Amino acid sequence: MQAAIYCRVSSDPKGQGRSVAEQETECRAVAERAGWTVTQVFCDNDYSASRYAKRDRPAYERLMAYVAAGKADVLITWEASRFQRDLEDYVRLRELCRSHEVLWSYNARTYDLSRTDDRLMTGLDALLSEREADVTRERVLRAVRANAVAGRPHGRMNYGYKREYENGVLVRQVIDEDQAAVLREAAQRVLAGETPYAIAQDFAARAIPTPRGGKWELSCVKRLIVNPSIIGKRVHRGEIIGDAIWPAILDDDTFYRVKAKLEDPARRSNRDSAIRHLLSGIASCGVCGGHIRVGKPRGYLSYICDAKFCVARKTWAVDELITKLVIARLNRPDAADLFTTPENHDDLDELAALRARLDTFYDAAAAGEITATALARIETKLLAEITALEHRSRTANVPTVLYDMIGNAEAVWEQLSMPQRREVIKTLLDVKLLRSYRGARTLQPESVVVTWHSGSAAAVPSAQD
Ligand SMILES: [Zn+2]
Repeated sequence: MQAAIYCRVSSDPKGQGRSVAEQETECRAVAERAGWTVTQVFCDNDYSASRYAKRDRPAYERLMAYVAAGKADVLITWEASRFQRDLEDYVRLRELCRSHEVLWSYNARTYDLSRTDDRLMTGLDALLSEREADVTRERVLRAVRANAVAGRPHGRMNYGYKREYENGVLVRQVIDEDQAAVLREAAQRVLAGETPYAIAQDFAARAIPTPRGGKWELSCVKRLIVNPSIIGKRVHRGEIIGDAIWPAILDDDTFYRVKAKLEDPARRSNRDSAIRHLLSGIASCGVCGGHIRVGKPRGYLSYICDAKFCVARKTWAVDELITKLVIARLNRPDAADLFTTPENHDDLDELAALRARLDTFYDAAAAGEITATALARIETKLLAEITALEHRSRTANVPTVLYDMIGNAEAVWEQLSMPQRREVIKTLLDVKLLRSYRGARTLQPESVVVTWHSGSAAAVPSAQD
């Protein structure tokens, strides 16, 4: 008799199950005792046979084809539940074995599926396996959701909160107003266009205590204000799993706008906030396309082409010109059209709606109104939509100071820090420096080429205005 062996191991963090090798050894021992020749061994590693598992089992499918091709007389598995995903799988296997007259051996017993009693026994085992998978799944989900719904604080304390104890027992986690004020300020400043680095430096200068001692760092500020616990959410393995029992420090809208801004890939490459000049690293060389940096040729602080020295222009003159352009543009009645794309607002509304919807499903699952399976399906779908929208709205993000500047541009500009001004310029326009004619004593406005970003195409002031 020709025997085929099937072994499978699912992820088994506690190491309670048998390894694939152990299963194979036992199955081979069964074959040896029965006098069968093992012709093929099929192994699926780390694939769950549960019908809730998402991944496929390639070896299982090959095995089915092997049996269908009539290459085996007997199939050996270590136990019934290792083999089948659900009753459908069982029926498929049963019919296959039956029509090809293949025996099935597991738990040291061999079944002939053409016999009524053996069909009953294997069918019962299949039912029990299915129930076991259901129970496991429900138990896991129940535990996770229970924690999420209860929203209990655990582990390290989150910055912005303090815990209250009675007789040594934790009663609640409440807002620490001093720390919360620091978080709110950091969030507002990020939205206003400041970098976490600049904010960290300022916090250090003001001697604000850090969460764990030591000094304020870029990563520290960022980590604190993108942590969903500050909007009253419990996080499990990096994902929000429900509402916490503690109150929120930031509102959802602010939180997600800050998060989108800090996770914008364009920002990551530009963490140099020690920059003191308006256009260094922003303007480009109109001749070779290279970067513009600041240097001091002939003693004047100048914007120069970094790569080939194609252009050199006094910084104060270019800065003055660009500042005038920006202020003029933002004082125009149609200034808002520059950066309020309709999609941006719709996206943010839709995001909030999707998150709220997902929350209602968590609640429904916790109340037992929908099944764990249904929740998992809905969750997968909604999370995919949320991720896609977050990505889209991120690209449409603009510094909030821009809104303040409309109609009052000059006064607001005066109040802005250098990083904020640079942020405004980056959002609004591109600057290219061209060569001016030889011997020009003053800045030739036509040698500074400004391209306004989308939404601003119509009737923008040129350098000659
Ligand atoms: Zn150049």
